[in-house]
Amino acid sequence: MSETKTALVTGANKGIGYAIASGLGALGYRVAVGARDAARLESAVEKLRAAGAEAFGVPLEVTADQSVADATELIEREAGRLDVLVNNAGISGDMGPGWVQDPTTLDLDLVRTVVETNVIGVIRVTNAMLPLLRRSSSPRIVNISSSVGSMTRQADPDIELGAIMAAYAPSKAFLNAVTVQYARQFADTDILINAACPGLCATDFNGFFGNRTPEQGAATAIRLATLPDDGPSGAFFDDEGVVPW
Ligand code: NDP
Repeated sequence: MSETKTALVTGANKGIGYAIASGLGALGYRVAVGARDAARLESAVEKLRAAGAEAFGVPLEVTADQSVADATELIEREAGRLDVLVNNAGISGDMGPGWVQDPTTLDLDLVRTVVETNVIGVIRVTNAMLPLLRRSSSPRIVNISSSVGSMTRQADPDIELGAIMAAYAPSKAFLNAVTVQYARQFADTDILINAACPGLCATDFNGFFGNRTPEQGAATAIRLATLPDDGPSGAFFDDEGVVPW
């Protein structure tokens, strides 16, 4: 079996996903760069290779069964197994004027779209990749969540919420709950699965509003992707440590 470990990062053509791919590439991982747009995928792979990383492109739309099945086949052909899966692809959904998703006027189709990408997409990709992950001696799964998915923080009146995000925030709470279910299911295996909050990073996602760089946002995910065998599983972390569910 090849010594080089392979890591799939979904939504890796830009933003935090690209920074995670780049960080793992610099650590010697062969990076499977997941992205849904062919041109942007190609340019991300070229950029990673120019920086010295071993990288190959994986066309991947996380909401489509066939795309995910094709991606699994491609990774099996290229690498034979998968050591790290970073479920990074995600959307906020339309925030509307004033950067708000008001629960009292919420467009239900918006909720469906956000959950389809941020939660169902993660389950779809994770389950498709599981057979390849099970061939690794140290499989790691990282779900990119957000502190807005922390029910403890959202419900704390003393914490200033940047915005009401009634579609996006619950989608990350749902993702967190799913992460815990996977961790329980994997309890007797060597698969470690955790959720990571990148913090508010300047990316397309928020109109480049964040005060952190994508590289800063990638750090926790990279740490969780490279955990030792006795590392934690079924927990939620940011740069400062454990985030309460
Ligand atoms: P970006 O918008 O820069 O990147 C999102 C990535 O996800 C893009 O590559 C995008 O592809 C991809 N993507 C979206 N939908 C799909 C889909 N259906 N199938 C495949 N790929 C898809 O955002 P960020 O880098 O900021 O966000 C990355 C993750 O970090 C998200 O999960 C987000 O929720 C989370 N996060 C971000 C924070 C921030 O402050 N930026 C804070 C907390 C969490 P395309 O380019 O084709 O649209």
